[in-house]
Amino acid sequence: MTRPLIADIDLDALRHNYRLARDLAPHSRALAVLKADAYGHGAVACARALEGLAPAFAVACLEEAVTLREAGITTPIMLLEGVFEASELERVEALGLWMAVHSDWQLDALLARRPARPIPVWLKVDSGMHRLGFPPERVEAAWGRLADAPEHACDLHLMSHFATADSLDPRYFQRQMTLLETLAGRLGAPTCLANSPATLAWPEAHGAWNRPGVMLYGGDPLEASSEASRRLKPVMTLRSRLIAVRELAAGEPVGYAGRWKAPRPSRIGVVAAGYGDGYDRHAVDGTPVLVEGRRTALAGKVSMDMLTVDITDIPEAEIGSEVVLWGRAANGEVLPADEVARHCDTISYTLLTGVLPRVPRRYHGGFD
Ligand SMILES: *Cc1c(COP(=O)(O)O)cnc(C)c1O
Repeated sequence: MTRPLIADIDLDALRHNYRLARDLAPHSRALAVLKADAYGHGAVACARALEGLAPAFAVACLEEAVTLREAGITTPIMLLEGVFEASELERVEALGLWMAVHSDWQLDALLARRPARPIPVWLKVDSGMHRLGFPPERVEAAWGRLADAPEHACDLHLMSHFATADSLDPRYFQRQMTLLETLAGRLGAPTCLANSPATLAWPEAHGAWNRPGVMLYGGDPLEASSEASRRLKPVMTLRSRLIAVRELAAGEPVGYAGRWKAPRPSRIGVVAAGYGDGYDRHAVDGTPVLVEGRRTALAGKVSMDMLTVDITDIPEAEIGSEVVLWGRAANGEVLPADEVARHCDTISYTLLTGVLPRVPRRYHGGFD
């Protein structure tokens, strides 16, 4: 038997989630965000499943766009952070990419070049995230320079990013939104503002375009899930098997440092999956795991290649039993990556992007 750990990728669920993002914002178009290897799901496979459905994709850098183009993906691709140096503009043009412009040097570099055809530009404003973008008071001037240079740039959009769209407290979101509505109104600019949480929870943020990312993969980014976010389906199932079973007397410890001690006579299942595969070592005792489609709990520290679970109350569990670390079990039971993440003091984004290359990806569905 080969090592049983696999990341099963359900491309039909990806398409379902994309359609949900689109249907929630019927007057917007949705850029499917495929950065970071499609949040760990495999950018090329996900792009192929979404081609024809999504009018454009978004990635973080030129290299990610090149990977998609070399795989034969022809859908427009947007660079969320634009170029990292001026020399990249030549390939941006050659590959027909769209790009964000977030700073003066990028704007100067673009205007200094005379491309064979103008490059679609998404001017980024810092409306309160305080990471990338032009300060609001300097946006009009930057927009004017682009609008006056149709031989360099075309199809201008105003872009910004929300810091708190996932939060139950609406105040900071509303401050950003008020500023953006004023700016976009003054410039007559089509906007691209909404990430997944804003796509799910803030219809007023829906612009000409939205930029859903994690929700496409079934991650629910909201502090409090909503009717819409509960309709998301997990795309990745991280699946393995029990490779050993231990019977322990009460009081016996399990694993490094003996962090977990059997509170009663216990059965412990050893699972082929560890932090060397990307399973988070911060997972506490009690982190949920599905064994034979039934919920149980991590017992003991995560090791590099293995982790241990309490199967005392799952008598049918034995060597070879199915284990789901997150995703959907064979019996249909779902364990959301978000729930696992809460036990690791993190978010589903890091669990999904953190699945390491050692774990084979196996693809299902993806076409009508
Ligand atoms: C990653 C990213 C997104 C997608 O964010 P999600 O929270 O995953 O939906 C949107 N916009 C920008 C600029 C990003 O970097």
